[in-house]
Amino acid sequence: MLKSRVAQVRNTMQNLRLDGIVLFDAVSIRYLCGFSGSDAVLLVTGEKLVFATDSRYVVQAQEQVVADEIQEYREKLGAVSALVERFALTRVGFADKLVSVELLHQMQDRSPAVEWRSFGDAVRNLRQIKDAGEIADLRQAAAMNYAAYQAVRGSVCPGMKERDLAIELEYSLRKAGGEDKAFDFIVASGSRGALPHGVASDKQIERGELVTIDFGTRYNGYYSDETLTLAVGDVPARLREIYTVVLQAHDMAIDAVAVSMPAREVDKVARDHISARGFGEYFGHGLGHGVGLEIHELPVLSPRSEVLLENGMVFTVEPGIYIPGVGGVRIEDTVCLVDGRVEVLTRCPKVFTSVVA
Ligand code: ZN
Ligand code: ZN
Repeated sequence: MLKSRVAQVRNTMQNLRLDGIVLFDAVSIRYLCGFSGSDAVLLVTGEKLVFATDSRYVVQAQEQVVADEIQEYREKLGAVSALVERFALTRVGFADKLVSVELLHQMQDRSPAVEWRSFGDAVRNLRQIKDAGEIADLRQAAAMNYAAYQAVRGSVCPGMKERDLAIELEYSLRKAGGEDKAFDFIVASGSRGALPHGVASDKQIERGELVTIDFGTRYNGYYSDETLTLAVGDVPARLREIYTVVLQAHDMAIDAVAVSMPAREVDKVARDHISARGFGEYFGHGLGHGVGLEIHELPVLSPRSEVLLENGMVFTVEPGIYIPGVGGVRIEDTVCLVDGRVEVLTRCPKVFTSVVA
């Protein structure tokens, strides 16, 4: 798997007429050579893959890294310039979105004869097509969400603080084997539900409210991302209606997903439904995003998206309606397109559910 990823990077190198690529970001490095630590550098040339890190990570690297060479350095940029010199590289690529201006200037100062060129999103683009092992990890992370939901569901009741629900979810995800929380969980009840990014607060959840819960974890580096909106007892008819519209938009969008379909068309299916029901102005964000070694990655599903959906893509479908002063609903699943079919990885039930009688 790693070899074919490196081979694809070499194709990009050839297309851009680069004779090497230097990677500094942990996600790209992990993707291409298996290293899960946080500080290293990876050089790809036409023939060699050279990994270098400092003394803290050498033992870990020897266990994990698949590369032609594993080096230890005292100073990272010194190691990079020595490698560039050793392989006599003249045009070297870097990821302009992931390398700071300062770092670029330092590389230019160290290796002034080298032409440093951006290779853009090459590795991020590769990462949007997942292989079977990656999908298995994503499926496992999603299963942890389901386990945590089952563990916590019974304790959601009027009087519970949003914060405490978030903490219980985090604890249950860790107990289920999750590596870390994927982000600061959103637990937004009542009128706070109108905040698409309403991080859990000290507010108590009350009877008659909806609670939006956006949560996830990580397994083998791969994230889960899922949003439930639960009712606490009977909720007003308007909130019930919003729930129905969002769930319909969510289901219609997932049903529409197909190989070669423009991602923006999937967004449009959900958006058109929400607009037709009169709530268009309350759905302000894109329909979804890729999930993998990062919680937000390619592809983007939005009205401006240019990408066509392909087998191996894993992304969220998360329509929402947020009405200021009233409340909100978001329903999010992470789905995978594999062999032309859609598999919904996240498994918490999305049917309207009230947690108390
Ligand atoms: Zn989410
Ligand atoms: Zn999401």
